[in-house]
Amino acid sequence: MKILRILSYGDPRLLRKSEEVREVDQHMVDLVRDMFDTLYAVPGIGIAAPQVGCNLRFFVFDMNRREEPGHRSPVILINPVITAQEGMVTEEEGCLSFPGIFVPVERASGIEVKGVDMEGKSIVLEGEGLFARLIQHEMDHLEGMLLSERMTKWDRMRLRGEIRKIERTGRKGHA
Ligand SMILES: [Zn+2]
Repeated sequence: MKILRILSYGDPRLLRKSEEVREVDQHMVDLVRDMFDTLYAVPGIGIAAPQVGCNLRFFVFDMNRREEPGHRSPVILINPVITAQEGMVTEEEGCLSFPGIFVPVERASGIEVKGVDMEGKSIVLEGEGLFARLIQHEMDHLEGMLLSERMTKWDRMRLRGEIRKIERTGRKGHA
């Protein structure tokens, strides 16, 4: 079991647009296993590849992490594309790359996403609420788009000090 370091705001790898996965090689198999180990060790429900320093288009998540603890349902989505979305809703959102920060972000309330799994089989998922928010958040990571750009101008101003601290030290709070 290997817990990966999650890059925090300030690391340039978080700002890159990630590239399509062309083949699932052994390095990626190992990385995905470590990402799941990491996911179950941190207070989050999803990790995108760029957050562990890999600029490829995939992410891992587990919705049951929060809703039914003890019943894991790990999902990996490779080369995901949002194929439908509807409605808009504003809810609090956090990010493992911004420890301790939660801000309201407006997102589509329902989405459909397509991608492939580790075997290259196609996956279509649809859902609302937290699921829809999670997928849109992780898709942002693949574009190099971060929570700091999704929050309101007011929140960015209000949290300027804390964000700067994360940028400097990799974590919020009293260091
Ligand atoms: Zn995030």
